[in-house]
Amino acid sequence: MQKKVIIIGGGVAGLSSGIYGQLNGYNTEILEMHSLPGGQCTAWKREGYTFDYCIHWLVGSSFGPFHDIWKETGALDEQTKIWDPDTYVTMRMPDGDDFIIYADIDRWEQYLVDLAPEDGKPIAKMCNHMRKMSTMQLFDKPSAHRNVLDYARFMVKSGPAIRLFMKYGKTSLGAYFKNLGFKNDLLKEQLQGIAVSMEDFSAIVFLFTLVWFSQRNAGYPLGGSMPFTMRMAERYRSLGGVFSGKSRVEKIITDGKRAVGVRLADGTLKYADYVIGACDLHALMYDMLDGKYITPKIEKAFAEWPLFKPIVQVSFGINCTIESEFHTYQVIASGESIGSTTLAAGYGVSNYNHDPEITAEGKCVMKMLFESPYELWESLDGDAYRAEKEKIASDAIEKLENLYPAVKGSIEVVDVATPLTDIRYTGVWRGAYEGFLPTSKNMTKTLSSTVKGLDHFYLAGQWLSPGGGLPPSAQSGKWLFQLITKRDKKKFRVF
Ligand SMILES: Cc1cc2nc3c(=O)[nH]c(=O)nc-3n(C[C@H](O)[C@H](O)[C@H](O)COP(=O)(O)OP(=O)(O)OC[C@H]3O[C@@H](n4cnc5c(N)ncnc54)[C@H](O)[C@@H]3O)c2cc1C
Repeated sequence: MQKKVIIIGGGVAGLSSGIYGQLNGYNTEILEMHSLPGGQCTAWKREGYTFDYCIHWLVGSSFGPFHDIWKETGALDEQTKIWDPDTYVTMRMPDGDDFIIYADIDRWEQYLVDLAPEDGKPIAKMCNHMRKMSTMQLFDKPSAHRNVLDYARFMVKSGPAIRLFMKYGKTSLGAYFKNLGFKNDLLKEQLQGIAVSMEDFSAIVFLFTLVWFSQRNAGYPLGGSMPFTMRMAERYRSLGGVFSGKSRVEKIITDGKRAVGVRLADGTLKYADYVIGACDLHALMYDMLDGKYITPKIEKAFAEWPLFKPIVQVSFGINCTIESEFHTYQVIASGESIGSTTLAAGYGVSNYNHDPEITAEGKCVMKMLFESPYELWESLDGDAYRAEKEKIASDAIEKLENLYPAVKGSIEVVDVATPLTDIRYTGVWRGAYEGFLPTSKNMTKTLSSTVKGLDHFYLAGQWLSPGGGLPPSAQSGKWLFQLITKRDKKKFRVF
């Protein structure tokens, strides 16, 4: 008899859990409140244009343990083409100059030295830190399955990166740039421009990100988010998994210290040997389990760890071709407004010219993203909500026309997705689209996929690792089936 597993949530974590469950002989069912799988990793169509929400870069696009997961889950297949950008981002400074962050470390180093020859030393130091970070090995199994040998191998191979971790693990990006002691005022301003937009963002995460880009292992799969999750959903179905859309879980049913099933919003009861929570962590712990099993660590995380600030995405369908020198600009515009939001740092504008599967011949798709505090949205509804969206659309058009005067008169479609849109479709807590922000304080911490006091219940998804994102979400599904198969005395399989 196959054991039955209920998975709450059909985002990337839920799909990954389902795929590894099916591969290992479990009878799984994904209960998803939306009609489609994908969760935050999604896209939508408006009047013939495709507007992508999620994937800008995918860690593991070409090698390593995350790449194995993308292959095993079908998220990337032989036909998927990966686009590796030359630049990570280009910052448009208030004086109109551009400050480029190249994807390649050597190229960025040369660019910075050309800009500020007097800062050769700190520039070399920063770039060498990035090179050292590239020695960091990633584990391919959960901590409970690692032995002394795994850790010894890790320590030997990752030595230089570990030493950096020890030194800068608790340093914010702003403090890191300051400590390097740059002299050139313009360079200082430009680097602080990056840090401002990231608050207490961890310096280590920034270094890591550029390493992945430099290794060409954080590319963009052409077609974007929707085909990516649809390939996972297809892999799940082909393995016999059951995806039940429009199935909102309201409560997790427990029997003593054990999870035994779920109750849906329409009253349907479903029972299983294991229940996996692969949706919003706050809703799971505080609503679906009535706050009865909150561990001190989870409580502390929600009380102390900052969340990703929610975002507004304005998508534009443009009826002509617009060439861009760079695919994404981060326009530094601190203090300016879009709608009622006063921008803390600025806004990003991406042109999808690099993706022919999204940009049709003779057309152009662009999107603008900016952070907007949750407090501004939480009680907005009805006419006030519609008016805010209209104001955002008109402010955003004006800003886009400033950046790309050629779009004037050619914008056919404007679509505004707000933090409330994200919450309505995915239930994500306070619109924190990647969960907990990775800061200098929580960078090395994770939350457990098991919950003390509640057996046969597991957690998966972005909330378990500060920083969230697609790779840890998918990995959490793989790792928890490594735990479950061991518990059931089965050999873990990936094919
Ligand atoms: C604009 C944007 C850009 C991003 N860019 C990147 C990027 O470039 N690279 C990257 O790696 N990551 C990126 N991310 C982050 C990434 O999308 C997420 O971290 C990841 O998709 C989270 O997956 P998840 O399965 O853990 O959670 P989710 O995607 O939130 O999935 C949870 C699922 O549970 C469902 N659900 C919730 N409550 C219930 C319920 N009661 N009953 C049934 N179902 C329920 C939801 O509908 C949802 O489908 C981005 C996210 C956004 C929004």
